[in-house]
Amino acid sequence: MEKVLSKITEVTSDPYAYVAELKERKGKKIIGCFPMHIPEEIIHAADMIPVVIWRSNESVTWGHAHVPPYDCGITRSFVDDAVRGKLNFMDGMVFHVRQCLQVGEFPLIIERNVKPAYMEILYLPPIYQGDPIKSYLLKGLESFKASLEDFSGKKISDDNLKKSIEIYNENSSLLQKVYEIRRDRPGILKAKEVMQIVWSSMLMPKEDHNELLKELLREMEKKTVETKKERIKVIPVGCLCQTLQFDILDMIEDLGMIIPDDDLYVGSRYFANKVRLNGNPIEALADRYLIKTPLCPTKGVWDVHWGDEVIKKLRNNDAKGIISIRVKYCPPHTCYYPDFKSKMIEEGVPEVMIDMEHEVISLEGMKTRLQSFAETMGGV
Ligand code: SF4
Repeated sequence: MEKVLSKITEVTSDPYAYVAELKERKGKKIIGCFPMHIPEEIIHAADMIPVVIWRSNESVTWGHAHVPPYDCGITRSFVDDAVRGKLNFMDGMVFHVRQCLQVGEFPLIIERNVKPAYMEILYLPPIYQGDPIKSYLLKGLESFKASLEDFSGKKISDDNLKKSIEIYNENSSLLQKVYEIRRDRPGILKAKEVMQIVWSSMLMPKEDHNELLKELLREMEKKTVETKKERIKVIPVGCLCQTLQFDILDMIEDLGMIIPDDDLYVGSRYFANKVRLNGNPIEALADRYLIKTPLCPTKGVWDVHWGDEVIKKLRNNDAKGIISIRVKYCPPHTCYYPDFKSKMIEEGVPEVMIDMEHEVISLEGMKTRLQSFAETMGGV
């Protein structure tokens, strides 16, 4: 298991070097997809490599001249990386600009300062009732496909697209299997290792990642877990668009809690829904986007409650509490949070919210909060 995990750590500890080397090795164009909801399968079918844009582990420097300090961490970090030329190996970039105001700023900033050879702006609609939403979405995806064909010089046939969907679906199934084993044997992987596994899927070609996951699963099946004492099961929720600092995940575990499952973007949300293989593949991708769960506060869904969904997950995992992780200055999550909190209070579910900042100054305050949370649930 160590061999696979060390490969994954190699990929995620320096994604810049990894993706630049990947481009050389495969001789293919790299398309950066700003999270979330970009249908990477269409890029893959055009014989280019989609990678999900990430948050760096460095403080923002030049980026300050382009984005305000009250933008979220990944927004500021991405602009900083872009204007410093750290993402020059990306041949193209794709943004879904309706997601939040901050992503809406990108087209201007990137176009004026570091425009890549290909830049595409998607507008994935909110999921309101009625046919116009789906037909609008289909038109958007068709035009995305056409622009990729234009840039790559490769026609994307339905068969090619279905083949890419199949590879992506396999990746989702394998990741789900990793999650199932962790659910049955919590502690088999550290929480940060699970996040690295999902993150590496966002960076590596899915074919290569599938092979790595198969090897990992073979090793996981054999591994037993020693349960020293009963630990409190908690479900982390939120952290849209970006990885959480690994120190925070370590801290949760060091405080006597254990994570059997999650509802994080760089976690179960990334691979939650597969795409059906029958029928028109663009329509199948549209239908995947239109699935309302796991609920994403950027999709404008009001007839499903995020709190209900998370409580279901809590009960399925026999977990005791929820740790909401809000990316500081993330309006979609912040606006949804009061409703979420009310639901937790109504249902008597222990829940605590912590703010995640790009530049972490001290984790001491967070530690105190998490420690008290664990104590209220009978731990530590
Ligand atoms: S974390 Fe929130 S504010 Fe930041 S890009 Fe994602 S949705 Fe937008």
